[in-house]
Amino acid sequence: MKEIILAKCGELVLKGLNRSSFEKTLIRNIKRALQPLGEFDVSIMQSTIYIDKDGGIDDTAAAFSYVRRVFGIAALCRAAVCRKDMEDIKKTALEYSKNALQKKRTFKVESKRSDKRFAFSSPQICADVGAYLLKNIDGISVDVHNPDVVVTVEVRDLAAYVHCENVPGAGGMPYGSSGKACLLLSGGIDSPVAGYMMAKRGLKLSAVHFFSPPYTGELAKQKVFDLASQLSCYCPDMELYLVHFTEIQEQIKKNCREDLFTVIMRRFMIRLADAAADKSGAGALITGESLGQVASQTLRALSITDELSRHIVLRPLIGMDKDEIVAVSRKIDTFETSILPYEDCCTVFTPRHPKTRPVLSEILEEENKLDIPVLVENAVSRMTVVKID
Ligand code: ATP
Ligand code: MG
Repeated sequence: MKEIILAKCGELVLKGLNRSSFEKTLIRNIKRALQPLGEFDVSIMQSTIYIDKDGGIDDTAAAFSYVRRVFGIAALCRAAVCRKDMEDIKKTALEYSKNALQKKRTFKVESKRSDKRFAFSSPQICADVGAYLLKNIDGISVDVHNPDVVVTVEVRDLAAYVHCENVPGAGGMPYGSSGKACLLLSGGIDSPVAGYMMAKRGLKLSAVHFFSPPYTGELAKQKVFDLASQLSCYCPDMELYLVHFTEIQEQIKKNCREDLFTVIMRRFMIRLADAAADKSGAGALITGESLGQVASQTLRALSITDELSRHIVLRPLIGMDKDEIVAVSRKIDTFETSILPYEDCCTVFTPRHPKTRPVLSEILEEENKLDIPVLVENAVSRMTVVKID
């Protein structure tokens, strides 16, 4: 029995004239996600995506798990392919649903007939296939309201398909269809989640990480590589820009008021993230900030870092509670890495009493004590980039 994967396009079905360019991006992304398993044939007809392989898919379970992570898909299922012939449809439905049905007790058959030339109507298909299953599998009954298993028969242009279980897809818009943004990626819980959420809305990601040797060690850096690599399951081909931050932090500590250290440091992060965004061709920055979470994430502190950014700063977690962020981080498998106890450059110099309502004029006064262009230039010239796969 031949098996393929059928998927439903997500929100891109709402697009008008430019829908085909979204579909092309989605097809390219699915093929890319499946590359470890070979070359696949992927096509879209009437919002349904057909995923098949010349000579058959060898490992449908593996292929299915890769496609589940592709943004732009609302739902997907594995489906058996058969001829558009009622006898073949019935036999295939029996063979394909037997396992699932024997473990459960109730079922119903649903049918979609997009090929209107097929001689049987949808209600007839449901009735015939349902009767056939009842006759051939002991101990099952029909429940049209609350069935344990729904057996779906679709009669389409090229063939008929039988499937039993639709699961939700990754949702969102095709990766890369909304442009590109640069994620400020720390080793914490929040920033990988922020990156995932914006990638889900179709932004291709690059990332920038600030590290401060010898205050932060190799293990802390490795943790960020690991997080980037876990994100790359959703966000392929990510470039990670690494910025030496030690000199800047030492200069701030030596010259500026302690209670303003964090906001001044975050303004340097924004200047350097702007530079990394330019290098990677990104049109926006993304951070994992959430309103009120820490002193640097008050409205005042956020406005003061925002005002100097040359790019729009996207903060998808701004209205989320920590436990909601943790739930997403568990879902995307970054949580266990994020909680490894390595230091971050933000934490090594944390002031005892950071000012929660900083004033811009005071910040500018403190910044005047630093040679900002030279510090930024030094950090940009030492910036390195790593490709994450
Ligand atoms: P996270 O949980 O993501 O580490 P956080 O709770 O530690 O965030 P902050 O330290 O205030 O919060 O950082 C806020 C945001 O600033 C982070 O979500 C991230 O986008 C960015 N950021 C912080 N530290 C770094 C870093 N070392 N490199 C790159 N970006 C950083
Ligand atoms: Mg945070």
